[in-house]
Amino acid sequence: MQSKESDIGAVAWRELNPEPYKFKAVEPISPGTEEHRRRAIEEAGYNTFLLRSEDVFIDLLTDSGTTAMSDRQWAHMMRGDEAYAGSRSFSFMERVIQELFGFRHVIPTHQGRGAENLLSTILIRPGHYIPGNMYFTTTRVHQERNGGTFVDVIIDEAHDPAAAHPFKGNVDLDKLESLVRRVGAENIPYMSLAVTVNMAGGQPVSMQNMRAVHELCRSHGIPVFVDAARCVENAYFIQQREPGYQDRPVRDILREMMSYADGCWMSAKKDALVNIGGFVAVNDDHLAQKLRELVVVFEGMPTYGGMAGRDMEALARGLLESTEDSYVRHRVGQVEYLGELLRRRGVPIVEPVGGHAVYLDAKRFLPHLPQDVFPAQALAAALYIVSGVRSMERGIVSAGRNPETGEHHRPNLELVRLTIPRRVYTSRHMQVVAEAAARLYEARDGITGLEMVYEPPTLRFFTARFRPLGRWRL
Ligand SMILES: *Cc1c(COP(=O)(O)O)cnc(C)c1O
Repeated sequence: MQSKESDIGAVAWRELNPEPYKFKAVEPISPGTEEHRRRAIEEAGYNTFLLRSEDVFIDLLTDSGTTAMSDRQWAHMMRGDEAYAGSRSFSFMERVIQELFGFRHVIPTHQGRGAENLLSTILIRPGHYIPGNMYFTTTRVHQERNGGTFVDVIIDEAHDPAAAHPFKGNVDLDKLESLVRRVGAENIPYMSLAVTVNMAGGQPVSMQNMRAVHELCRSHGIPVFVDAARCVENAYFIQQREPGYQDRPVRDILREMMSYADGCWMSAKKDALVNIGGFVAVNDDHLAQKLRELVVVFEGMPTYGGMAGRDMEALARGLLESTEDSYVRHRVGQVEYLGELLRRRGVPIVEPVGGHAVYLDAKRFLPHLPQDVFPAQALAAALYIVSGVRSMERGIVSAGRNPETGEHHRPNLELVRLTIPRRVYTSRHMQVVAEAAARLYEARDGITGLEMVYEPPTLRFFTARFRPLGRWRL
């Protein structure tokens, strides 16, 4: 929408992307001293997961459950109906989800993986194959626990950090079709479609692709279930990048996206703007009944599913807020702003920038380090030492080992993730992060890599410990 040139407020709103909120409660933070941070990272075994939150200045470890809630969400929390059964807060949340997503049945869970557990247990049998647009850690674990095999059907561009594609999360229809031909539609309980794709860097799926996946699956009688953790950010990318959607509100786009699915599940800790919560939503009456039968085993009554009444109030209110165009425009814009600052300073990042994080490309950042000395792990530790900014390794440490050969998996992507919590930091904080990364880039030769001194048997990135090789000159 074009504003009048004399409307300086409107022009500044459009061009400067200011925070569409003001602060009512604050939590003090400070960088502390470099000496203190050196000691803290040493005690944490050079693993940012093992740092204490109070030793962190700007915390970009994850966007999961780290949201700041609005005054209205807090007000709604006071109205939580904590009745064991038939809670009014559940009815409110159910109605909001039905209206925004268009599915008939809503089953609450304590968070996303609770929903994955229910859906996978009901639908997957040993020998089944579940196609998905790239794996997600908890999603795949639940598929495998039930005897299923995950099959990656994302387009090739998603695995290349430099490939420019507006919808890098898209499904490759040929890969999906050939899987159906290879294993038979009767062995595919559903298609798992993530919007956006977390492990590919928050990359979106186009509406055209969602429609095509739906048609292809329907022709084979395969239902489509959407992993909706970041569905609002995906809807925003469609509005910005896909012809025909420029003038459509994000809420409309979201509703159309979900019309190409049989149901969805959501970790509400992401786009629903709450610190805990989740749900499954489906159309099929029989499946809904099965979900309600199982939710009481793992989560709680079908009218709370592991959440307090106040949590459901906050979740419903959070979804209403996150689907406002002004919110999501600023949100994705802030992530892009950090990307642009880094790009301008010549710091190597993954392109295009996704919806929830900017990824530093550690291979190009530290070209003098072979993958065996854990460049991304070292980079995350060094960034913390120089600035107090906490990030996360997504490279050889996260990838783990091949259980048969015992060798490291060697992923193509050796990355450090800078994940932006929602409504928590200002653009000034983004400037601090970019400045820290840019100065570290200038001092990159002083980072000599790490050796691993403790390695847990599974999911090693959470608790592994390291020691620097030689003395780092930062
Ligand atoms: C976080 C996440 C999940 C799991 O949700 P939890 O709330 O952490 O249990 C599933 N899928 C995606 C894409 C996620 O980002």
